[in-house]
Amino acid sequence: MKSQANKLAFNDGWHYAPAPESTDHIRIDEKYDLFIGGEFVAPEEGRYFETINPATEDTLSSVALATETDIDRAVKAARKAYNGPWSKMKASERGKYIFRIARMLQERAREFATIETLDGGKPIRESRDIDIPLAAAHFFYYAGWADKLAYAFPGRNVRAVGVAAQIIPWNFPLLMASWKIAPALACGNTVVLKPAETTPLTAMKLAELIQDAGLPPGVVNIVTGAGETGATMVNHPDVDKIAFTGSTSVGRIIQKSLAGTNKKYTLELGGKAANLIFEDAAIDQAVEGIVNGIFYNQGHVCCAGSRLLVQESVADEVIEKLRERMETLIVGDPMDKNTDIGAINSAEQLETIQSYLKIGQDEGAEMYQSSCDVPRRGYWCRPTIFTGVSQSNRIVQEEIFGPVLAIQTFRTLEEGLTKANNTPYGLSGGVWTDKGAKIFKVTQGIRAGVIWANTFNKFDPTSPFGGYKESGVGREGGLHGLGAYVKMAT
Ligand code: ADP
Repeated sequence: MKSQANKLAFNDGWHYAPAPESTDHIRIDEKYDLFIGGEFVAPEEGRYFETINPATEDTLSSVALATETDIDRAVKAARKAYNGPWSKMKASERGKYIFRIARMLQERAREFATIETLDGGKPIRESRDIDIPLAAAHFFYYAGWADKLAYAFPGRNVRAVGVAAQIIPWNFPLLMASWKIAPALACGNTVVLKPAETTPLTAMKLAELIQDAGLPPGVVNIVTGAGETGATMVNHPDVDKIAFTGSTSVGRIIQKSLAGTNKKYTLELGGKAANLIFEDAAIDQAVEGIVNGIFYNQGHVCCAGSRLLVQESVADEVIEKLRERMETLIVGDPMDKNTDIGAINSAEQLETIQSYLKIGQDEGAEMYQSSCDVPRRGYWCRPTIFTGVSQSNRIVQEEIFGPVLAIQTFRTLEEGLTKANNTPYGLSGGVWTDKGAKIFKVTQGIRAGVIWANTFNKFDPTSPFGGYKESGVGREGGLHGLGAYVKMAT
């Protein structure tokens, strides 16, 4: 009854008036070259590829396709900067450059947020309130460490690793770039960074900002291209460290190709996080957390809460409330400040999600999607839940990377933990309960890098992040994140 009333209210004209972010304050060039040695240079083979707006399918710009010669040029520029000014500079001076990047990002936050949303499809509210402020916060945080490494590693003599090749995905483009670049620079490394092929624009804007910040040429190099370009970076003999965030399948390829080399590496890979709701939880708050964990940002989050484990006694109530809440989620124009769920990042990703929707139904699960309209152009997926799933189902075991939630029930804490741990992944998890003792049991019982209690998807530069099992190797963020970019000399 309640959900019917809700639907009626919504369908009866209770809509927010559109509140679109304007684009008149941004500049997107027709074409972007590679940022190597402090300058924008054309790619050796002269090839470019387009980047589109996934909400409209319109082309936004073209970016250079970097091939082997270009990567070699970028690595050489990074090596020259490392051997030259960067490793000789006083750490406090190095810190000043990083602080400058942080401040400039804050000053240009609106521009970065708008471009992030246009290129990636995520709601402007998300890029404005989460991606860009957190990116700046990472630069601020690591800038502070640059001249305090002796305190980070007491009693040890640490040195930079050298040249880092950094490869990032499309779900948090600028934020992932900052996660990678900030600690690397703070520890005295130089970098070659490659954004994902579908979201290169904020990285190119960051290149402009870094040029404006006056960083010595070659300290940060930004190259564009797809998987082949990434593989060329990984395999370059003069790279000392690889930092990769992306799919587990590509992580495996990278790990294989690094075997037997001396290169240091960190891999942030996939996830299939479970949120456990106990019967004593604040149910409305928990439902809101589930929505935040899987539907906001289109489920394009490696630590998304893509599985819900709910205690049997409150399962009906939780599912009913979740369905009601799903009906109120606004799916559509990512530039509209009211939008909750934006566009799926690419046609390819939409196809992957749709294939899982079919797999789930073929496996016998019951699918429910919200009844909202979606725009005709662009790539969209309504928020979706599956009930009646079993542990062995592919939609429970595999990462979908879309707004799709698999719901299971449990009776005892032990059963909940067993189910939560029964996937190849271990990136994150969540627990919703009124009882502190249960929080401790669950946080100790789930084998995952991050567990949130009575909240979800909260980030802070001071907290380490990373996975167990097939979710990755190493940690980023916080003090731990520095360890990935130093060598212990003594
Ligand atoms: P997703 O499935 O999230 O798109 P991918 O793992 O395919 O994740 O991509 C993440 C990043 O890795 C992107 O920048 C992509 O271009 C890059 N990439 C893809 N294949 C390879 C590879 N074989 N070696 C190195 N980087 C790769």
